[in-house]
Amino acid sequence: MLNALRILILLLGFSGLFQASADVTQVRIVGDGAPTRITIWTDRPETADALLMEQGGERKVVLLLTQNGYSAAGEGTGGVEAWALAPDRLEFWLDRPLAVTRMLRLPPTGKEQAWRVILDLDTISAARFTTSARRDTKRLAKLETEMATQRAEIRRELAGAATQPARRSGKGRKHVVVIDAGHGGRDPGALALSGGREKDITLKAALDLRDLLEKSGRYDVRLTRETDIYVEHEDRVTKARNWGAELFISLHADAAAASSVSGASVYTISARGETRIDREASRNDWKIDIEDGTPERLSGLLEDLVKRETKTRSAEFAEMLLPELAKAGPVLRNTHRNAGFYVLLAPDVPAVLLELGFLTNADDAKRLQSDKGRAAAVKAVAAAIDTYFDQQDLRLASN
Ligand SMILES: [Zn+2]
Repeated sequence: MLNALRILILLLGFSGLFQASADVTQVRIVGDGAPTRITIWTDRPETADALLMEQGGERKVVLLLTQNGYSAAGEGTGGVEAWALAPDRLEFWLDRPLAVTRMLRLPPTGKEQAWRVILDLDTISAARFTTSARRDTKRLAKLETEMATQRAEIRRELAGAATQPARRSGKGRKHVVVIDAGHGGRDPGALALSGGREKDITLKAALDLRDLLEKSGRYDVRLTRETDIYVEHEDRVTKARNWGAELFISLHADAAAASSVSGASVYTISARGETRIDREASRNDWKIDIEDGTPERLSGLLEDLVKRETKTRSAEFAEMLLPELAKAGPVLRNTHRNAGFYVLLAPDVPAVLLELGFLTNADDAKRLQSDKGRAAAVKAVAAAIDTYFDQQDLRLASN
């Protein structure tokens, strides 16, 4: 083709720095060139920056994004000849001079489950393209420098964020563990056939667990309630955050329709529950602690990172807890479960909800109401907490 313009849209990102940075899941191009719409689906929100470039007779459009590294390619239409996704860029070859007239970043809505970046392209003159490209080339050079700086900064912050709870309490200081005795006061929780109430069992277990943990001298243990009172769910989380909690454990005892169901189970936040985190965090002013003066573009990334780290840590602790619980008594099958429990919604405190057993099961109810049975369960939780903080301390030491 005569005078075919080779226009590239580059999706440059912090590729490889984030295990779970956004993946481009789909690319679709529709239109006839005037206009043409490119839709890019990603599994996470994207911040994008579009630039036009002209180098050695080649015209490009550069779009800065975060995305994961893998390759794909496809045919184009309406002015877009083809596209190719490389580990750190998405390139669109155009057969005529087009400019990005609009760029939209859309969250999942309606039937759309994914995030979308939409680029609307329309024809411009070659001269206008050249002018825009000259300006944007300078911008790109600046952005690339900025990104290199940010990469270094992110690596540094990554090390910090990875040990954020430890950093919060400081090296050599006690780890802050918050134990939340479920229910209380007007809310008795589940009832045992034998007459025991969940709120009493969880409080006793919380007090026992505190005593055991404090004996080691390694932990600063806080309880969301120490008596038979009702504490609102958001206040339990707010208290934990204000205390600088590095780990939050909510104790409960379950009830089931079938009396045969027995065993402990552990919950961490579900994907569905996660969608509530941002809303509840802003409603309750649970701000993620990001250093003052951090550029806004970076703050978002770091907050995202802290949230992911928190989720990972919660899941890690849950996995450490299960083998210990199995030593102390029965555990449910598939026992690491996900749920949207409110007390698991802190964006920056690793948290699990532990159902110690079923009060509707005679053996579990007896076990949890006996000093010996409760001691075994509490010992299991304490052992898992030790394992968890052994790992955190190792991480801190290696940074
Ligand atoms: Zn409960």
